[in-house]
Amino acid sequence: MKDVRDFISKEDEARVVEAITKAESETSGEIRVHIEAKCAGKDPMKRAIDIFNDIKMYETRERNGVLIYIAYESRVLAIIGDKGINEVVEPDFWDSEKETLKLYLQGGKPADGLCEILDMIGKKLSKFFPHQSDDVDELSNEISYGK
Ligand code: CA
Ligand code: CA
Repeated sequence: MKDVRDFISKEDEARVVEAITKAESETSGEIRVHIEAKCAGKDPMKRAIDIFNDIKMYETRERNGVLIYIAYESRVLAIIGDKGINEVVEPDFWDSEKETLKLYLQGGKPADGLCEILDMIGKKLSKFFPHQSDDVDELSNEISYGK
């Protein structure tokens, strides 16, 4: 693969963005997806936290941003939430989403996996952070790419 943007086709990318928009119609939480080839450092969680800060995902009123991180060549992923979420959920909150996405990635279907877990995340977050009538799209729904 020459370019990280080739990991997901344009059609699939549009589906993922739509799934983010749909998930965010159920919750005030803000979800982003970041894709890169190699995970810098050994720990995908630490890398995800760096990216979260780099792309300023803390800029939400309720501190309820969620980042789905994939490094496809390193074959690792992470899902992290901002402190507003971590204060109200268990540490294993994202385990089922991680497991589901992992299986889809192993099966070569990243977009299907992302769409499925985005639906799960939207529903799960809505219990803690219901969608507000005056909702603002605080963070872009576009996929963010590394190198
Ligand atoms: Ca929003
Ligand atoms: Ca958004």
